[in-house]
Amino acid sequence: MSGPVVVVGGGIAGLATAYRLRRAGREAFVLEAEEEPGGKVRSAEVGGLELEAGPDSLLGRKPWAVELCRELGLGDDLVPAAPVPTHVYTDRGLLRFPSGPFGISTDLGELLRWPGMSLAGKLRAAGDLALPGRAGDEDESLGSLLRRRIGDEATERLVAPLLGGLFAGDVDRLSVRATFPELAAWEREHGSLLLGARAEARAAAARRRGGEGPPPMFLRLRGGLRRLVLALVEALGRERLLLGSPARAIERRSGGYRVRTDDRELEADAVVLACPAYAAAELVEPLAPAVAPLLAAIPYVSTAVVLLVYPAGTADALPVSSGFVVPRGKLAISAATFVSRKWPEEAFDDRAVVRCFLGAAGSEDLVEEPDADIVEGVARQLAAVVGLPDRPEAARVIRWPRAMPQYEVGHLDRVTEIEAGLPPGVFVVGQAYRGAGIPDCVRQANELAARITAAPTSPASG
Ligand SMILES: Cc1cc2nc3c(=O)[nH]c(=O)nc-3n(C[C@H](O)[C@H](O)[C@H](O)COP(=O)(O)OP(=O)(O)OC[C@H]3O[C@@H](n4cnc5c(N)ncnc54)[C@H](O)[C@@H]3O)c2cc1C
Repeated sequence: MSGPVVVVGGGIAGLATAYRLRRAGREAFVLEAEEEPGGKVRSAEVGGLELEAGPDSLLGRKPWAVELCRELGLGDDLVPAAPVPTHVYTDRGLLRFPSGPFGISTDLGELLRWPGMSLAGKLRAAGDLALPGRAGDEDESLGSLLRRRIGDEATERLVAPLLGGLFAGDVDRLSVRATFPELAAWEREHGSLLLGARAEARAAAARRRGGEGPPPMFLRLRGGLRRLVLALVEALGRERLLLGSPARAIERRSGGYRVRTDDRELEADAVVLACPAYAAAELVEPLAPAVAPLLAAIPYVSTAVVLLVYPAGTADALPVSSGFVVPRGKLAISAATFVSRKWPEEAFDDRAVVRCFLGAAGSEDLVEEPDADIVEGVARQLAAVVGLPDRPEAARVIRWPRAMPQYEVGHLDRVTEIEAGLPPGVFVVGQAYRGAGIPDCVRQANELAARITAAPTSPASG
């Protein structure tokens, strides 16, 4: 019989790991520092509405979180986003993206007619079709790949706001391999991003014709993603989740580990660190001094979400759109979701509901402003861009300090080095490592639990 596993961190990654271990018959306990489980999955009450304060949707093409929801009996409450386009902020106001994945056009004519860029910028983007491919396959930044293929203007005005925005990151630092490896594959296989995007779109169309419809791009959970957290806790067993119990130290003991909190000691055969990398760094320092600096070197960016509920009669002021992204430095907000368009709900009545993002690599100082100033500034920008009233009826700022790990160039090599350097029986999982969204956290949890249960003997040798 194998001994228990202690999981440090009760966010999605930690809870999913513990749940999978329990399903495989292994005892597992979760230590969570806060009084509530779920980590970044949180809701907030604004104007009588319960709105998502952290993540709000699951990416359909990465099936692991959706599968977990179904497994936990939440399948009927998965709701696809309304079929409305996404816009990008330009000097000419909001424009629809040219058709194609990741803002990379599949239609040259449409790209050349797109009014959001100069003619020179569009011709340079079309140059992607003729430029030779890159020699070598070492990791590079998204910015380096995009600028090389489609030029600076298309990179900065079209693609970077979408791709960099997902990480609140700077495309000139983010790793292609760790974020969007398909872009490198397109260049390798088709010699061009535009041709790669077109091949991707054709393959999707063929699948649709063959009756294999693509999964919805985004899904939300009716009642909020918090329900996934609660369902995981329920399935795990509430008694296995210790809230308000930050792990303070991990010590080796004969045959395993001892995890200390302020008032407890838990014996474990294995320890899973599902907390942020900087917290994991402190915990592993005495056990693996060479690994701690590698964990601590994963940079994090602070962001804020601003939730705004507008007065009755404002719903139609919003364009028919899921929202917009903003090229770096053009506005204080980096993106906005038109919640009442993308995820319409009866409870909204005819009120416009908007969620804005503030702060990203290079503009984190905005998050430090007082709430009232943030709300006023954000509302003013929204009023100028989409014609909403100057003031919302209710608003709330939720700050996310050090919440977005940055997958910089070489990230995956660093993660491999971390994993290899940890002592036997100590593992890391979650947003900081091999995929930053909830679906990838669930996939990592599934894979780690399978690895731990496949090696049932006591891992540490004292
Ligand atoms: C504003 C925002 C919007 C997002 N939108 C989306 C989205 O729409 N879709 C999507 O898929 N993803 C989204 N994400 C990313 C998503 O939130 C994360 O991928 C996911 O929630 C990370 O889960 P995790 O378990 O790895 O980490 P966390 O949720 O960060 O959980 C880690 C937990 O560890 C705990 N902890 C820390 N130190 C200790 C300790 N010493 N002892 C015990 N516990 C400790 C923390 O309290 C925390 O609960 C968003 C993130 C943010 C910030």
